[in-house]
Amino acid sequence: MSLTTPYDDNNIFAKILRGEAPAHKVYEDDQTFAFMDIMPMMEGHTLVIPREPAVNMFDLSEDAATTLIRTTRKVAHAVRGAFDPHGVICAQFSGAPAGQTVFHIHFHIIPSWEGVEMNLHARKMQEADVLADHARRITAKLAT
Ligand code: AMP
Repeated sequence: MSLTTPYDDNNIFAKILRGEAPAHKVYEDDQTFAFMDIMPMMEGHTLVIPREPAVNMFDLSEDAATTLIRTTRKVAHAVRGAFDPHGVICAQFSGAPAGQTVFHIHFHIIPSWEGVEMNLHARKMQEADVLADHARRITAKLAT
């Protein structure tokens, strides 16, 4: 997958956006959607995606980039409020050599705590009820 790979409508995040695959949603609006990472690196690991079909930072429109970072900021505040971490990573990987594994652009929001080791990237599935509980905690903060 190079940086110029065309968008594939059948990627898993496109299916989530169309409602064809499940997700633990925390937020949505006309242009963005946020949900729990199914293989979290830390508890509270959340993903934010644009509705615009873009593979990575280099085919994303400026308007979609603007709304994507706005929602990432909003959701990061809620993740911080829900989990009280020592730090929060907001990260985006463009291209497989950079670590991208799903080819619909997304920002990761990953809480971190001093002395707590992160899980490996996209390695171990979390239980659905745990993800549902974490999504509820973040959604509750978004409502305040
Ligand atoms: P990246 O490697 O930056 O492309 O990140 C893709 C992320 O998507 C990884 O952290 C995966 O754990 C996560 N992921 C893959 N499939 C799903 C899914 N169906 N629902 C939620 N997260 C997913």
